Amino acid sequence: MKVKNALNFNSWGISKNKPLIISGPCSAESENQILSIGKMLKEIGVEVFRAGIWKPRTRPNSFEGVGAIGLPWLQNLKQQYGFKLAVEVANAKHVNQALKSNIDILWVGARTTVNPFAVQEIADSLEGVDVPILIKNPINPDVNLWQGAIERIQGAGIDKVAAVHRGFSTFDKSNYRNLPMWQIPIELKRRMPQLPMICDPSHIGGKRSMIHQISQKAMDLNYDGLMIESHVNPDNAWSDSMQQITPKELNTILNELVYKVVDFDDANFKNDLRDLRSQIDNYDNELFSVLQQRMKVAVQIGEYKRKNNITVLQPRRWNEILSKIIQQGEEHDLSSEFVKRIFSAIHQESINKQTAIVNRVDNIKKSS
Ligand code: PEP
Ligand code: MN
Repeated sequence: MKVKNALNFNSWGISKNKPLIISGPCSAESENQILSIGKMLKEIGVEVFRAGIWKPRTRPNSFEGVGAIGLPWLQNLKQQYGFKLAVEVANAKHVNQALKSNIDILWVGARTTVNPFAVQEIADSLEGVDVPILIKNPINPDVNLWQGAIERIQGAGIDKVAAVHRGFSTFDKSNYRNLPMWQIPIELKRRMPQLPMICDPSHIGGKRSMIHQISQKAMDLNYDGLMIESHVNPDNAWSDSMQQITPKELNTILNELVYKVVDFDDANFKNDLRDLRSQIDNYDNELFSVLQQRMKVAVQIGEYKRKNNITVLQPRRWNEILSKIIQQGEEHDLSSEFVKRIFSAIHQESINKQTAIVNRVDNIKKSS
């Protein structure tokens, strides 16, 4: 049995094989705080220490980070314990100050990744520098924007780049602080197979109780690392206090995680897997033909609505469908979140097709 372990961070000066663990407080608060967290993280074998120095906050008048005075604290920590240090940068000035203070790894935060001007400014300030850069996903669920930010940084000649998945903001309330939408990082990895993927369960979950399960999910999906916020006194942290855990709790989670193997050199296993995958392919084919049939009927309804001058969107009908499918979803062991998402997409596609008919006929009428 062999674990396929294609990605490691040796070229980043990190000795351990994956998963790479990055931990430390959301924000640097004082030199003492940094040193006491660092001491405990060192004891459990963490190699990369994170701390926010400049903090992007949603509302003004909250703690916005200690700023550059925190950089010498980190240098001191590095001297004492030999960590690699990671901090967030949001502009060229941050990059220059962090590099002058021997910060080893820089990360671009979610609120910066959304802004191509800001990312380009950071990329330009990195020309000719050899430093690993982590790029968090943008706060909105847009894989192109995430990919674009990575390309801008790579375009500056940086070859040590990793993506950090920290979830996506949504208007709807959910159990997560930021919805994971796992399909987005999976799509990014499909487009950029060599890119190491790091999961940030702290910002996805937003609460301590969720860190374990999200970390396990990331391991099941073969992520290359985890960034987890830790603090000696999480309840009193100056930012993100609900989601920080103690180094001791971090150690327990890391010891309990099950690291799955990616590939086996075992013929039986491969045959079984091939069988199961071909079953999945068959079901996918069936799904396509059922969807095609459904769309044909929707188009017929569209014709009917047009002839009778009825609007394409019938909210009452849609509400009826919605409550029926949630009930049916439960009977079929499918979560209401999943059925809502999938049926909204199907309904939207039907509406698009029906609107297309109406527009086509209107255009024909206009031109005749
Ligand atoms: C952080 O890591 O503390 C942070 C601000 O992250 P994000 O950019 O993911 O919100
Ligand atoms: Mn944080």
